[in-house]
Amino acid sequence: MSSQHARPGPRSIELFDRARRFTPGGVNSPARAFNGVGGGAPVFIDRARGAWITDVDGNEYVDYVGSFGPMILGHADPAVVEAVQKQAAKGLSFGAPTGLEVELAELISTMVDSIESVRMVNSGTEAAMTAIRLARGHTGRNKIVKFAGNYHGHVDALLVNAGSGPLTLGIPGSPGVPASVVEDTLVATYNDLESVKTAFAEHGDEIAAIMVEPVAGNMNCVPPVDGFLEGLREICDAHGTLLIFDEVMTGFRVHPNCAQAYFGVTPDVTALGKIVGGGMPVGAVGGPASVMETLAPSGPVYQAGTLSGHPLGMAAGIATLEQIRDGSVHAAIEPKMTALRDGLAARARQHGVPFMTQGAGAMFGMFFTEAERVTRFDEVAACDLDAFTRFFHGMLDNGVYLAPAAFEAAFVSRAHDEEAIEATLAAADKAFAAVAA
Ligand code: PLP
Repeated sequence: MSSQHARPGPRSIELFDRARRFTPGGVNSPARAFNGVGGGAPVFIDRARGAWITDVDGNEYVDYVGSFGPMILGHADPAVVEAVQKQAAKGLSFGAPTGLEVELAELISTMVDSIESVRMVNSGTEAAMTAIRLARGHTGRNKIVKFAGNYHGHVDALLVNAGSGPLTLGIPGSPGVPASVVEDTLVATYNDLESVKTAFAEHGDEIAAIMVEPVAGNMNCVPPVDGFLEGLREICDAHGTLLIFDEVMTGFRVHPNCAQAYFGVTPDVTALGKIVGGGMPVGAVGGPASVMETLAPSGPVYQAGTLSGHPLGMAAGIATLEQIRDGSVHAAIEPKMTALRDGLAARARQHGVPFMTQGAGAMFGMFFTEAERVTRFDEVAACDLDAFTRFFHGMLDNGVYLAPAAFEAAFVSRAHDEEAIEATLAAADKAFAAVAA
């Protein structure tokens, strides 16, 4: 498929040939592969600044991947880069506590109402894994409710009907995850409280936690319907179950104080990643001290990490959250988001392509459908995936980098200025024409 297109260019193709010899599938995370958009070499990146990313062939793109979420300030934000450089000169990591960890933990707990205490980890996957172990240890129960199409990283127990990469590859579970490991994982339907009530009717007092993406961002972008998150809170309260918000993607993106502030629903435990590390490998789990103190060394639930609280990650996270905390980043993004989404919809209409966008805060999704709104996973799956693939390549050939799968959300940063948005809409004009052809 990629050979019919102008991009990726020869250097990316050559690197992909080499990469496939030394790395499974040529990529270090399946979401970067082009399997979901017809296959072939992905674009290999050389550098990025602001809203723009440059590939190894020298092609420039307006970037809506933003490192799959972290880059809300834009790439190579000067304050973040400076903070990392300064810290690197002082030593890379120590295996002993630093003031940076304290500073980032304080910042997170100031910004996120439900969080008093934070444990730093190295990725969103680790944050999700720690969150469910904590919930199980704290409640003394084993079962977890998750939602089809929600993705919580490659945690064994949560890799059931997951979104993102597994969805793109059509993998309902994964070989290598024994049935015994997922026998306590109950899968409900996102935005459908009845399916959650059914699980609780059968297993109510065995359920340690409900784990949910407050905006589902791994089955395209599906915000919660009115009452869904509130309903989950009520069910959890009625059964002594912990409500875990996986805010790895939504945290500090949907709202400066996370999706929980945007929707006004308070979880017991929050998993964070992506923006919290400003582009470095950082995750975090937070909640009230009464729950968090269950973790070692205060409590009996074991969790650890040689590089956890890594100084460079902490420095990048602090430099990022410090800019987000006064709300100015989100205020700046809001009008750009409206211009972009309205502009895309208008161009689709001009070309007669059934299309709509939906989103929350600084993330949105593109849907090739006649529907006005998509709220459930089966509706996402019913969208025209072929049209997305044609649109994706039309955008890539015309200088816009979207995630290479119909099941990923798109991310806008503070650096997406008028020029970037105009360039995007000009490319969309051509890409929608290709979809309509
Ligand atoms: N949880 C959510 C909601 C995510 O979107 C992701 C990654 O996309 C993860 C967890 C896993 O994070 P990581 O890829 O950093 O392990």
